[in-house]
Amino acid sequence: MKSIIDKLVKTRDLTDEEFEQLILCEDKETIEYLAAKAREVREKIYGKDVYLRGLIEFTNYCKNDCLYCGIRRSNKNAERYRLTEEQILNCCEVGYKLGFRTFVLQGGEDAYFSDEVLIPLIKEIKEKYPDCALTLSVGEREKDSYQKLFDAGADRYLLRHETADKEHYESLHPAELSFDHRMQCLWNLKEIGFQVGCGMMIGSPYQTVKHLIKDLRFLQDFKPEMVGIGPFIPHHDTPFADRETGSVDITLKLLSIIRIMLPEVLLPATTALGTADGLGREKGILAGANVVMPNLSPTDVRGKYLLYDNKICTGDEAAECIRCMTLRVQKVGYEVVQKRGDHIRFI
Ligand code: SAH
Repeated sequence: MKSIIDKLVKTRDLTDEEFEQLILCEDKETIEYLAAKAREVREKIYGKDVYLRGLIEFTNYCKNDCLYCGIRRSNKNAERYRLTEEQILNCCEVGYKLGFRTFVLQGGEDAYFSDEVLIPLIKEIKEKYPDCALTLSVGEREKDSYQKLFDAGADRYLLRHETADKEHYESLHPAELSFDHRMQCLWNLKEIGFQVGCGMMIGSPYQTVKHLIKDLRFLQDFKPEMVGIGPFIPHHDTPFADRETGSVDITLKLLSIIRIMLPEVLLPATTALGTADGLGREKGILAGANVVMPNLSPTDVRGKYLLYDNKICTGDEAAECIRCMTLRVQKVGYEVVQKRGDHIRFI
C-alpha cells in the first residue's frame, strides 16, 4: 500500500484500482502515512498557514429542491430569512476587525439577489475592504451574470459539482436541475477568471466508490483552485432524512488524496466535517486541509441556515468562533493567519 502512496506523490495519479484500494483502506498505519505525505506536500507550499474565510450565510430562500438540502424550497418548516445590505456590511466590518481577509457570501438561489442587487453590494465591500478577497457561492447563474459579478470585483466562486456522475447527480436532484448545466457553470466561471471551487459530499445517498473515483478524475481534469468536501449529513425535513451520515474516515482519506493530487489546492476543513465528528476539522487539517471557514452570520439567523441536522456553532458570536478556531488549529500544530490566502496561480 505504501508503494501506491509513493506513486501518488510522485506522479499525482493512480489507476482506478489503486484509487479504490486507497479509498477503502482501513489500515491505520497506511492512512497515517497517506496523511503525513499530504502534510508534507501542503507544508512545502503553504507552510503551517491556515487561511480563514468568513462565511456570511446571507439568504436561505432557495428556488431549488435538492433532495439532500434542508433549505430546499419544499421544506415548509424552514424559517426563511434574507439579510439586508446593511447587515451584510456589518458582518464584514466585524469580520475585518477579527482578522478575516476573505469574505464568503453564500446563500440559496434567491431571485431577490439579482445582478442589480448583488453588483452594488460587491462593489461596496471591495471598496471598503480593498485588501480582502470576496468569494461568492450563490449557485447556478448564466454566464453573463457571472461575468458581471466578476467585473464588479468578486474574486472567487464556490460551486460544488456535487457528483461527477450524471446518473448519480440525477438521483440527488429533481428533474429540473441538470448535471450538464452545473458542469457548464463551472467551466464558465473558470473561463471568466474566478478562482473556482468545486467539490462533493462524501457518502451522499447512492454514492459508490466508483463515483468517488469519477470525482477525482473530474478534479484532475478541471484543476479547481479550491475543493470543498464534507460528509453528507441527513436533514430531518428532506427525502433523505433516514439516510446515514457519510464516513468521516473516507472524507479524511480523500482530503489527503486531493492534497497530493493537486498540491496547490485550497482545501477547507468544512463545518460538515466538524459536525460529523467533534474533532473533524482538526483531523481535516492533519489530513492536508489548509482552510477553515468560521461563521460570520449574525447570531439571530445562524440557526436558520440549516442544510443538515446538528450543525455546529449556531449559537456563537463571530469573535467566539474565531477564538475557538484559532485554538483548535494551534493545538494540532498549525497557525491561523491574517492573509487573503489566494491560490498560488493568482498571486
Ligand atoms: N446554493 C449554493 C450554496 C449551496 S450550500 C450552491 O448551489 O452552490 C453549500 C453546499 O452544502 C452544497 O453545495 C452541498 O454540497 C452542501 N450540502 C447541502 N446539503 C448538505 C447535507 N445534507 N449534508 C452535507 N452537505 C450538504
